[in-house]
Amino acid sequence: MGEIKKIRTACRNCHGGCGVIATVSDGKVIKVEGDPESPISYGTLCSKGLAVTQMAYHPDRILHPMKKVNGQWERISWDEALDTVATKFKEVIAAHGPEAIVIGQGTGRDYESHLYRFANMLGTPNVLTAGHMCYVSRVASTLITCGNLPICDYRGEPKLIVMWACNPQWTNPDEYKGVDFWKAYKKGAKLICIDPRKGFVAKRAHLWLQLRPGTDAALAMGFHRVIMEEELFDREFTAQYIHGWEAFRERVMKDYPLERVEEITWVDKDLIRQAARLYATTKPACIHWGVPTEQTNNCTDFTRTATGLMAATGNLDAPGGNVLYVNPPTRTVAEFARHKELSLEQRAKRLGGEQYKLGARVAFITPKVAWESILEGKPYQLKAGLLCGTNPVITRDGAREAYAALQALDFLVAIDFFLTPTAELADIFLPAGTWLEQNHVADNWKRHGFVVARQKCVEIGEAWQDHKIFMELGKRMGQQWWDTVEESLDYLLEPAGVTWEEFKKIGWLQGEMVYHKYKERGFSTPTRKVELWSTTLEKWGFDPLPKYVELPESPVSTPELLERYPYILNAGLRTPTFFHSANRQQPWLREIRPDPIVEIHPETARKHGIQDGDWVYIESPRGRVKERAKLYDGINPQVVVAEHGWWYPEIKDPGHGWDISNINILMDNAHRTMDPAMGATNIRNCLCSIARVED
Ligand code: SF4
Repeated sequence: MGEIKKIRTACRNCHGGCGVIATVSDGKVIKVEGDPESPISYGTLCSKGLAVTQMAYHPDRILHPMKKVNGQWERISWDEALDTVATKFKEVIAAHGPEAIVIGQGTGRDYESHLYRFANMLGTPNVLTAGHMCYVSRVASTLITCGNLPICDYRGEPKLIVMWACNPQWTNPDEYKGVDFWKAYKKGAKLICIDPRKGFVAKRAHLWLQLRPGTDAALAMGFHRVIMEEELFDREFTAQYIHGWEAFRERVMKDYPLERVEEITWVDKDLIRQAARLYATTKPACIHWGVPTEQTNNCTDFTRTATGLMAATGNLDAPGGNVLYVNPPTRTVAEFARHKELSLEQRAKRLGGEQYKLGARVAFITPKVAWESILEGKPYQLKAGLLCGTNPVITRDGAREAYAALQALDFLVAIDFFLTPTAELADIFLPAGTWLEQNHVADNWKRHGFVVARQKCVEIGEAWQDHKIFMELGKRMGQQWWDTVEESLDYLLEPAGVTWEEFKKIGWLQGEMVYHKYKERGFSTPTRKVELWSTTLEKWGFDPLPKYVELPESPVSTPELLERYPYILNAGLRTPTFFHSANRQQPWLREIRPDPIVEIHPETARKHGIQDGDWVYIESPRGRVKERAKLYDGINPQVVVAEHGWWYPEIKDPGHGWDISNINILMDNAHRTMDPAMGATNIRNCLCSIARVED
């Protein structure tokens, strides 16, 4: 055995950035373990992070560029690959303008800075992300409400935590890893859990509110109702710092009596009262919320209403409440990416920009408008695409439309580790490096006060880190970039006064925590107040006050479907092993979760002759897929809960079984189902039927 090196880096198998010590021997990573000095993860790693070597060294991983010739993949050099892409993109720009090229990413692996810079300098406003329904949507909604994203201040020792549609022990490290929540809980914080499913958190909660899936915004209104009726709000804060408090109060008192909230949400009104009272009277208290609240037509208004709860109870930017972190002083993605240099003329061409104004403000498009553009030429036709680390065929609702659109695109480039069902539709495949092969200022925790150093541990095959791919392709397009990735990182770090070489030795930078900043300078909104009456939405012609709108397909809005589709499908059940459509190749992880699971209440299963472990068809008006039944009495008998993200890498044809268990085939992506301001799709809920798959 040769020299053994230990390298400190940061995981990126999900959004977390957990600290890692990687052991490298003979140029190969042989072990990863948690870094006990990490300020984010304190030495812990989850199953996904621990299994990274099985991803990096997987025999199916593609480690060289390829082009498709007569339907078959052929190995090519980086020069040929990048020259081919640059030539094609230049042809498209000359014939149709840069807006005819869509640049896409999935959850993002800390390369947004480089991806957006590439897109902006190309001149296309069409960047397709998951932001319309995942995390960026809460950033956008809170930006217009209180100027920044309010995050649970676990370090400030909350005395009560409202865990709203989230299980941080398994997922969602965007708002702290489960370890911070767990420490606060163990220290005695009370816990309210809001979740349709009795999971890890609900089992430990002091109060569990089992709501009808997707009715979170109505429940938040119910909390406000109690707080207003019982005058539990912070009088000074609401009078001084909330714009539109009286108008909002009037709406809540008129439209949301608890009886109505109970009817909408299925949560007993006395329980709502008890929970709202506990939240408003226990100080400090924080709300930790998950993406299901955003993945509905009420995306923007849930976030605004929840922010209103934090504000009305005096928990906003207060120690132990929901705080507006001060970022470390590195360059912002917007500045690095030169957002301002995308001309007004090009911005005006953003697909769906006139309709989904809030989404457009944070510079993304929703998938639906991309598919319509490709398939129907509305309002103009996308001709080429570059998709980096994203698998929309599996992860976007209306999956059949996504598949058809990507198949129809004239020219598609995929940047990924594996040939996923989406990558198989491409003309050029560019092999990306995993986080073990990447130098970067990892900034997914920036809104939580940290940036951390991700250090390259190894190089594997001919794979390049995504940042280098954008840089080298950009140079071929005549764009201005640096010679090396590390020089671009020096630029990102410049305002902090450190270089990449210095930063990787320090390991992380932390912004200074300052509470109650609004007392000095107000909130960063047009009125300098928390805008429950949003002047921005008002200017754009939307309802300035938040409200609940019934889900587009539900027992209430489409009762005519109930006879054929009697159950509410609550899709997107998270697992500790997979990150959306990723990780199905890794043996350790597949051993833990070999099959897609659909949870069915035992009473319901009995009616359909379904036994635990049976394969079950789940059908909606849009199609049918199958998952394996797990009988579980922690859900309402009228609700079935299914995993998302499934395809089968072990199936070797180019489709890789994309349509067998892909729950997003069942989901509607019509415009009428979306959040009107954000374009968030209703990817979590629809009506369905179930039936045992007969052998
Ligand atoms: S939580 Fe995310 S970042 Fe942390 S170890 Fe797991 S996959 Fe990696």
